[in-house]
Amino acid sequence: MENCIFCKIVNGELPSSKVYEDDKVLAFKDINPQAPVHILVIPKKHYDSIIDIDDSEMDIVAHVHVVINKVAREMGVAQTGFRIINNCGEDGCQEVKHIHYHILGGKKLRSL
Ligand code: IMP
Repeated sequence: MENCIFCKIVNGELPSSKVYEDDKVLAFKDINPQAPVHILVIPKKHYDSIIDIDDSEMDIVAHVHVVINKVAREMGVAQTGFRIINNCGEDGCQEVKHIHYHILGGKKLRSL
């Protein structure tokens, strides 16, 4: 998708601090971390948000969650706990319109 910063990260036009990559999913450090561990996990294929993923393509969301578990273990937060956030749309305060899951951890987070 043209002008999507996360698509540009996927295709190497923009730099990122990658922590995991396979053929379908990329995980990289958030540029403005809100916790000691703040990783973004994205499908390489562009979807604006979760609501734009067709039921028939939801297997990518399961795969993203497999990667979230893998990254959480590798970043050392699997035992202590962490938070997964997916902001969706205007009221969800989604800034980057390429679906992404935040992994936040490494400290005691405030309850919602
Ligand atoms: P959202 O509010 O859920 O859309 O979050 C977007 C996130 O993307 C924010 O936490 C930003 O700090 C992060 N972000 C924006 N641009 C970049 C980048 O180029 N690299 C890594 N993270 C980014």
